[in-house]
Amino acid sequence: MLQRLQLIQPTTIAEASAALADLGEGAKIYAGGAELLLLLRNGLLETETLVDVKKIDRLHRITMDTNAIRVGACVSHQELASHPLIRQHAPALAYAESHLANVRVRNQGTLGGNLAFNDPHSDPGTVLLVHDAAVVLGSSQGERKLPLADFFVDMYATALQPSELLVEVEVPFLPSGMKSGYQRLHRYQRPTLGVAAAVRMNSGAVEEARLAVGCVGPKSLRLTDLEAKIKGATIDGAKSIISEEKSKLRELIRPVDDLLGSADYKLYMTTVMLGDVLGEAVEKALS
Ligand SMILES: Cc1cc2nc3c(=O)[nH]c(=O)nc-3n(C[C@H](O)[C@H](O)[C@H](O)COP(=O)(O)OP(=O)(O)OC[C@H]3O[C@@H](n4cnc5c(N)ncnc54)[C@H](O)[C@@H]3O)c2cc1C
Repeated sequence: MLQRLQLIQPTTIAEASAALADLGEGAKIYAGGAELLLLLRNGLLETETLVDVKKIDRLHRITMDTNAIRVGACVSHQELASHPLIRQHAPALAYAESHLANVRVRNQGTLGGNLAFNDPHSDPGTVLLVHDAAVVLGSSQGERKLPLADFFVDMYATALQPSELLVEVEVPFLPSGMKSGYQRLHRYQRPTLGVAAAVRMNSGAVEEARLAVGCVGPKSLRLTDLEAKIKGATIDGAKSIISEEKSKLRELIRPVDDLLGSADYKLYMTTVMLGDVLGEAVEKALS
């Protein structure tokens, strides 16, 4: 059962940040509540005050400038899955969002809540990494921008400071000619494994590739060493290189045995699915 809670509904980032600074550990940011209310109901988290950030207009905007789309932290998964700008410029993100959980969670949960909670079994972070996405964090002191890769610190840990909130996510367009894909493996609603790739081809060989993996280890990761190794390879060559890199990937990704599968199974599936998602992106790049 939920305990009695005070609800604050600031309309600006500065007001929200000031409330967080005043109330300290006694307050939590509340967006869609998909995670937060579960934790409170199950007694896994205690708080006295919810700082509801959904009245802050800027957190609901999706805008585009010359090289990126900006997504406000309170945009829901459902909105992202169907938004024309996302479908056109970041189709793999739209796909990932459309397969997240179920329609209830997609309508309730927000992108900001997903990234700020940083549950390892999440979809959007992995695909955002191949876009070189960045996050804008705001407080009453001002704003700062951070690459998403640096925002993700560890399982359930981010670079957010106590009185900061996630304001927006900057999603740069992929370079010209580069196409992307996202694939997920799931037994239950949350993914067991998520892989993303973006690739540009030249004369049948990989000219530039971006690869990311999520859910298997503590946080979503870009695989930059592997990206460099497959440069210049054909798709079949790249798949062989990926499957030969299992032991390096084990060190990097740190898979664990759990109810979703053994570490060995997850590692094996990571190499198979990285090859598959790269193949999907290559097909799109060549068509
Ligand atoms: C049944 C179920 C299935 C799910 N399946 C999936 C899945 O398949 N894939 C997937 O990726 N996710 C999945 N999720 C997770 C869910 O989609 C995300 O956790 C959701 O997007 C959280 O967003 P929210 O707005 O509800 O966050 P909330 O629950 O409101 O907040 C979550 C956390 O983030 C903090 N927070 C929220 N907004 C901000 C902000 N703007 N700045 C700073 N901190 C903030 C809160 O204080 C809290 O700690 C699932 C969740 C459930 C309950």
